[in-house]
Amino acid sequence: KSTKKADAYIEGASQIGIEVRKEVDFSTWYTQVLKRSEMLEYYEEVSGCYIIRPLAYNIWQEIQTFFDAAIKKLGVEDTYFPMFVSQRQLEREKDHIEGFAAEVAWVTKAGSSNIENPVAIRPTSETVMYPYFAKWIRTYRDLPLKLNQWCNVVRWEFKNPQPFIRTREFLWQEGHTAHFTKEEADTEVYEILELYRQVYEDILAVPVIRGVKSEKEKFAGGLYTTTLEGFIPATGRGVQAATSHCLGQNFSKMFDIVIEDPKDAKKVHVWQNSWGLSTRSIGVMVMIHGDNKGLVLPPRVAATQVIVIPCGITSKTTEDDKKLVENKVNDVVEELKSAGIKAKADLRENYSPGYKYNHWELKGVPIRLEIGPRDLLNQQSLMARRDNGSKEPIPLADIASRISDTLKTIQKDMFDRAKKVYDDHVKIVLKWEDFVPTLDGKNFVMIPWCEEMTCENSIKEKSTRHVTEQEAEDERAPSMGAKSLCIPLEQPNDPPIVPGETKCISCGGLAKNYALFGRSY
Ligand code: AMP
Repeated sequence: KSTKKADAYIEGASQIGIEVRKEVDFSTWYTQVLKRSEMLEYYEEVSGCYIIRPLAYNIWQEIQTFFDAAIKKLGVEDTYFPMFVSQRQLEREKDHIEGFAAEVAWVTKAGSSNIENPVAIRPTSETVMYPYFAKWIRTYRDLPLKLNQWCNVVRWEFKNPQPFIRTREFLWQEGHTAHFTKEEADTEVYEILELYRQVYEDILAVPVIRGVKSEKEKFAGGLYTTTLEGFIPATGRGVQAATSHCLGQNFSKMFDIVIEDPKDAKKVHVWQNSWGLSTRSIGVMVMIHGDNKGLVLPPRVAATQVIVIPCGITSKTTEDDKKLVENKVNDVVEELKSAGIKAKADLRENYSPGYKYNHWELKGVPIRLEIGPRDLLNQQSLMARRDNGSKEPIPLADIASRISDTLKTIQKDMFDRAKKVYDDHVKIVLKWEDFVPTLDGKNFVMIPWCEEMTCENSIKEKSTRHVTEQEAEDERAPSMGAKSLCIPLEQPNDPPIVPGETKCISCGGLAKNYALFGRSY
């Protein structure tokens, strides 16, 4: 190990625990948390691919359950299209293929023979689906068409892969809808963005900023892109959390998706949206909430919300007393389960209570209950919270209601804490000299901006630090340039942007809005 990272090691950490400090060596910490908590395994065969283990897959299912019910209420139906797309269809929308070409994986062989017309694996399904939209949509009565699919996609990215955050194959849902009017399409774009916000903020306890992407950063081939932007405090980097795109009529023109206007029988192109949320969300949650003991799960996605552990049993404890404790542990688990709480007992022999505490802390279980012979006398149990480490005895008599309340409190506290950190790291910057130093302080910067693409390119260039080779090797070096993350829907107003007066702090042109800039994943 290099001396540079020596201070990262946590003294006395056991092999089962986390050995590296989050504050010091974030990327090793992240990998250890994922592997040792048994969320994820590296797939050694193909780089950039990972195995999602049950603890993490359960989180994905919680997200699916919530989101799927919500979109059904909006009239969206689930569907499934093939994962292959022909070159001809893939290349039909010029901007779209330009945006994706470098990452498309192709199937070129079957056994040992070359395939005459190689097929691509979907990086996203616009070009798979829209030829069929053209076939199915004939009159305005066929609108709106609202389809969604839960599937995998492949983007053969060459940027540094990161489990969940940037993987070559990932799971997501992709919604694809067609509308008669632009207004209807616009409304849906924001309805979906709001549902994505709920997934992040209410379920994963991860705060996000809602906004619109710049021209440079919008979806290839789309009209405009709305986005949720997350913030990873440990690195000061942003992460695009989910996107809801209005495709306008670009794709309907390329794919010939037309109906007859009922007013004048003229052919009109439909308005389309597409929107996606991926397994990246799981990685964002781990990065934000995990600590030096491992994973910290928000109660709403924890497969086990409460672990009940017998303790205080020594060589002097009688067999009868031991049995009484174990029975109580089982009773409490049953009582919590009947109240709809996901509780489990850890009655493993040959493991000390201390070992079990570490084990379940590593796995992020929100609440631990300890029950020993003395607790039985007092009719109580010691409750320990994973998120803040607090401990408090609670009466066994009203255990279900106390636990249920505490789970809600933990969920809220986790969000509130993360939100405060995020808010503290969004800095309004009003002159260029402060831009890079503020960024280097692991912050996002909010600046009055002209929204021009040339200006965005120059900001990226000006904020890229020319680093030494040694620094470049070290992921943590703040070398990469800043990009625009979004133009936030909620604009700061102190000081307000005065149209025709306020200047862009980078190029001096007229500022249109405040924009959020940062280094990002
Ligand atoms: P897009 O179709 O590019 O708008 O992607 C939709 C969402 O998928 C993005 O907002 C990201 O959060 C997520 N995403 C994009 N690329 C990846 C990747 N390589 N691995 C995991 N998630 C991704």
